[in-house]
Amino acid sequence: MFQNVFFKSIFSRLAKASAATVFILSLFGFASQSQAARDNSFASWQHEGWTYAQAETMGTRIAVTLWHEDDAVVQQGIDAVLNEMQRINQHFSPWIESSELAQLNATAAKAPVVLSEEMWLLISKSMWVSQVSQGAFDITFASVGWHYDYRKEQQPSEEDLKRLLPAVNYRGLLLDKQTKSLKYAHPDIRVDLGGIAKGYAVDNSITLLQQLGIKHAMVSAGGDSRVLGDKRGRPWLVGIKNPRAQAEEKNTEPVIYLPLEDTAVSTSGDYERYFIDKSSGKRVHHIINPKTGESASGVISVTVLADKGLDADPLSTTVFVLGVEKGLNLVNGLQGVDCIIIDASGKVHYSTGLTPPEPEK
Ligand code: AMP
Ligand code: MG
Repeated sequence: MFQNVFFKSIFSRLAKASAATVFILSLFGFASQSQAARDNSFASWQHEGWTYAQAETMGTRIAVTLWHEDDAVVQQGIDAVLNEMQRINQHFSPWIESSELAQLNATAAKAPVVLSEEMWLLISKSMWVSQVSQGAFDITFASVGWHYDYRKEQQPSEEDLKRLLPAVNYRGLLLDKQTKSLKYAHPDIRVDLGGIAKGYAVDNSITLLQQLGIKHAMVSAGGDSRVLGDKRGRPWLVGIKNPRAQAEEKNTEPVIYLPLEDTAVSTSGDYERYFIDKSSGKRVHHIINPKTGESASGVISVTVLADKGLDADPLSTTVFVLGVEKGLNLVNGLQGVDCIIIDASGKVHYSTGLTPPEPEK
């Protein structure tokens, strides 16, 4: 179906080209408690002076590629990234009872809760994205979103939606700038930071690598990646997956390649966690339209480029919900942000900051 409309292309935000290929890895939400308990260490290997490492944490795959002449620094870098990812999971997973987010969800409807600096940062950033997108991004989506179970193919009933939808509203998050506290205005509000925390984790990881003197690296947490420097004389080449590649086709080639330096890149797709509803034939997936409480439709893959993961991550989810026209309008109005949208017919749309490639003949 997509062969006619997809084309392999190389184009550049930075007008560079490269021969290497980096796949954007599949992405999931936060780890459930049992997954968190299975956090393990990195598997790593070396090739042509580069070290590659992968691990599972935050309910997703973490991948690090880095270069440094001193192997001890390389190891420190890998350890620093894994520790940071695990720390963020412990702090922001809503499924770990002791996490700040779980505590917040348990008490903020009853009384204001004073937030940590980090929680304040993530929630205020989320609120900004909600405001610029008229609520397409909304961390209270969880009030309904947690009633989906993609593995068990379960979704909320119409009655559930009617009952819970009033709790999906970022305006119900009452932030007090003076005391840095948060109160939920509705008893059913639940907050989930699965649409922003991985981008933040990737940013922190890159900062830690920089502090170790590393100048060339790429860190990914699922579909959220950030590249540091270049790939030693050539740009990093990040691939956008074919959103309709069969799950069993493990090594399908990306449909678009992005040569990048010092950039964060996040992809949101409807193929990561989903099932097909047997009665309607509709794809039920993990990106929720806060207006309806149902999976967003109209586009199938959105990739956002920005300086930081803290912007690219929530904005990819946001543009997915907004769709082509509103999504491009939003991104075209934001400085330093670009996007590539694949719509439901397989057509690729680019923000004005990107020069679309010539289609292959
Ligand atoms: P991503 O795949 O990065 O776009 O993020 C998807 C994740 O963001 C989901 O697994 C949810 O945790 C969360 N999410 C889903 N819909 C929304 C929404 N409308 N606003 C904010 N977060 C969302
Ligand atoms: Mg995202």
